Amino acid sequence: MSTTPENDYSSRRTFAIISHPDAGKTTMTEKLLLFGGAIQLAGTVKGKKSGRHATSDWMAMEKERGISVTSSVMQFPYRERIVNLLDTPGHEDFSEDTYRVLTAVDSALMVIDAAKGVEARTIKLMEVCRLRTTPIMTFVNKLDREGRDPLELLDEVETVLNIRCAPVTWPIGSGKRFRGIYHIAQNTTYLFGSADGTRDQAVEAIKGLDNPLLDERLGTQADELREEMELVEGAADVFDLGAYLKGEQTPVYFGSAMNNFGVQSLLDDFVEYAPPPQPREATGRTVEPSENKFTGFVFKIQANMDPQHRDRIAFLRICSGEFRRGMKSHHVRLGRDVKIPDALTFMSSDRVRLETAQAGDIIGIHNHGTVRIGDTFTEGEKLAFTGIPNFAPELFRRAQLKDPLKSKQLLKGLSQLCEEGATQLYRPMTNNDLILGAVGVLQFDVVAQRLKDEYKVDCRFEAVNVNTARWVECDDPKRFEEFKNKNQANLAIDHAGELVYIAPTRVNLQMAQERWPEVRFLATREHG
Ligand code: GDP
Repeated sequence: MSTTPENDYSSRRTFAIISHPDAGKTTMTEKLLLFGGAIQLAGTVKGKKSGRHATSDWMAMEKERGISVTSSVMQFPYRERIVNLLDTPGHEDFSEDTYRVLTAVDSALMVIDAAKGVEARTIKLMEVCRLRTTPIMTFVNKLDREGRDPLELLDEVETVLNIRCAPVTWPIGSGKRFRGIYHIAQNTTYLFGSADGTRDQAVEAIKGLDNPLLDERLGTQADELREEMELVEGAADVFDLGAYLKGEQTPVYFGSAMNNFGVQSLLDDFVEYAPPPQPREATGRTVEPSENKFTGFVFKIQANMDPQHRDRIAFLRICSGEFRRGMKSHHVRLGRDVKIPDALTFMSSDRVRLETAQAGDIIGIHNHGTVRIGDTFTEGEKLAFTGIPNFAPELFRRAQLKDPLKSKQLLKGLSQLCEEGATQLYRPMTNNDLILGAVGVLQFDVVAQRLKDEYKVDCRFEAVNVNTARWVECDDPKRFEEFKNKNQANLAIDHAGELVYIAPTRVNLQMAQERWPEVRFLATREHG
């Protein structure tokens, strides 16, 4: 078979957009899809803006709060590349989900609001990217509004986020005085306001900084630009591909996503410079994307993604080889072969059945309760991808049913929603409570709402005397039995069947740890 972008893994560019809520992530996603030809008209990415999910109360809640709580995957071809864009939830209560999405990408795009600069969420997300030295491109958005001085913004990125900046484009004014961008390497000015609203290729371009046309179009701002560029040349880094790929430097672009301005320069460079699928660490060895055999790991599970289908989808990042429809694959944790009858890819809001997929691609497979976050699939090799953690939650509530006859349905709903990884379900050994753990309070509202919408169960979450939870393990089976017998009242089983110590207070936990030094109390657990 001849090599085409479709069957060549090295054409893949798999990335996520990271930003503080409201900086323009959704708008940017829409515009990238628009330029990628994946959608005709911007504005159809999410429930937030489309009518498709408007019937779901859960989505309505999302809309009300102005946050996006789902993350999805979108694929589109651009030039000779296949771009996989992974959406990440913006709200901090969903940070674990974001964390795991970032384990499945090869690079990231950071969107910053020109008026607000580096914000709290940006800092957090950047820290996560740092853990895996993920290369980052930066887009400074909303230049059509009054923004801060660009040099000052870059300085903030450099000092707060500790990454060197290399401006690739430079803005000419902001707000009412926003006139366009100057592309440094191309030595070309692109004028704002002359575009037809669909592509910024159609924008008027003026070659050279000393071009008199620039003075004609920009008036006094032409000289301001020239002076500023002299300053920038002296003060800022020049784009260095190697430093970008090592995560030491970020190329910076300026523009206005809402006005399709500056987005195409970014996308053109993105497909050119962003890294292709990278090797991934597994137990015992590193897996190269060029290997022939299929391997991949699940980084996200979503229940009832589409209210009409009512199914649970596990999102798998392919790390090597090729996925073929109907292929047999080895489910490493279960130690058995499973057939993957079909897999889905997502093109904006449409699901598409896949025939094949390559390393770097994200496929959605149907989960009937046997797949967990962190699970590895191979063609037989017993290896497990590492680095996809589960965090012990810090907030706990007991599920209280309004209608006691619905307890079976409640358990089903909670178990399925907990598969998504944002919340944990604990069933104490000594009573019939259903305790939910989460990292943020909003999670309880979301679960209650989804139980109502998707499982027809009315329940509320009330306070419970649990302060912290730790997964427990021990190498000495005899001691572990003793530990279990003595601590029954504090032990629970999570939804994945793992043993957990639930402590009413920190002091209680500390005492248990001191009393049972052979037992490991784990705050994070690697999946798989
Ligand atoms: P998200 O929360 O990061 O996904 O941000 P959104 O894409 O939803 O954008 C937040 C708000 O900023 C929305 O009202 C957008 O219309 C607006 N917005 C996005 N890009 C721009 C821009 O380039 N200029 C201006 N003026 N507003 C923008």
